Parts: sequence; C-alpha cells; structure tokens
Amino acid sequence: MPHTLEVPEYEIHEETRLDPSKTALIVVDMQNDFVKEGGSLLVPDAEATVPNIKNLLALARENHMKVVFTQDTHSDGDPEWDIWPEHAREGTWGWEIIGELAPRESETVIRKVRYDAFYGTHLDHFLRLWKVDTLVICGTVANICVHYTAASAALRWYDVVVPKDATSALDPFDLEASLRQTSFLFSGRITTSGAIKAEAPGYRSKIEEAAKEG
Ligand code: ZN
Repeated sequence: MPHTLEVPEYEIHEETRLDPSKTALIVVDMQNDFVKEGGSLLVPDAEATVPNIKNLLALARENHMKVVFTQDTHSDGDPEWDIWPEHAREGTWGWEIIGELAPRESETVIRKVRYDAFYGTHLDHFLRLWKVDTLVICGTVANICVHYTAASAALRWYDVVVPKDATSALDPFDLEASLRQTSFLFSGRITTSGAIKAEAPGYRSKIEEAAKEG
C-alpha cells in the first residue's frame, strides 16, 4: 500500500562554478524512445528538460568543455527487454538521439548496454585522457541511467553535478530518491542548469572584482 514519506532535505546549490577544462557534460539517453511521443519507453517529463539540456550544451560548447552523449543500445536477445518493453533497438528511430540535441562530429557518443555508462564502455578511458575530474550529468532516466552513471562516476572519485531541471523520471518519488542519494551518498552537487557557470577556480567576474575594489 502506498504511504507518505518526507524527502529528507538536501542542498540545491544556487551557484555551481566549474572549470571547463576539467569538466565534461554527460547527456544520458536523450533518445526518441524515451523522449518523443511514439517512443516505446516514454518518460513523459523528459521533453520538458530539452531546453535546459540545450542550454547546458551551449554552455559546454562555448567554453570548450568535453561533451559526451550516452546512447542506450540493445538488440535481439538482450535480457533488458525481459525487464522493460523493447526499447533502443540499434539502428531504429527510437534508438537515435533526439534531433534537438544531435551530437556534433567532435563529440563523443558512448553506446551502452546497461544503466551504468561506465559498464563495458570506454567512458572512463576517455575522461582520464582528457584529464576531466568533474561530470555534469543530465538526461533520463534520473533514477536509472543517470543515477547509475553518477554512482559509478562517484565510485571512481569524479565530482558529480546533477542539474535537477535537466533530468527526468517516471515518477516524482524516483527523481527525489535519486537526487537525495546523489547528494547524501555520493557527495554530489544538486543544482539547476542556470546555476552552472563555467569558470576556472579563482576566477572573479568583472562585477565581483569591482565590488571587491569598492
Ligand atoms: Zn535499456
């Protein structure tokens, strides 16, 4: 029987300054099957996050951050289709990343077979080559592929940042449970897409400089 629980308080950072040379933006599974009407495993709230993810992509591209897209990828006989309806069949429309967020040629697409984008992929290899230590992780589904990717990143000692308004779940409970765990258990920073600023450590904006000089 459902019952009511309060979500323990967790901090939502109002400003998150990141060094773009050490940060990668990871856009998780924004594929037609999950995001677009007619998709086989639709997350109804995912579409509303597209503008926020677009803004994060613009910020990353402007500041030469590394950008990685993950792409859930399955084919016949995949045991995930015993758990979920068939989705992300390689080569189909549903498997493709949505048009609005199409990866650029220079950006990395990681095809993955499980929730965790590190599992069985080259993701960690690339991040280490790039000397990245901080990951901004957005996309869908918050408590599934975003969560297990954030968990796996935190276990490898990456700093994890999750912009709440750029991730989506099938149920508000699932979203909150995931964010609370990311904050509490992984020491991740929960923030919003507009609160993320690409600035090297020690950087002060002109306004701040002026304020300091009085
Ligand atoms: Zn899948």
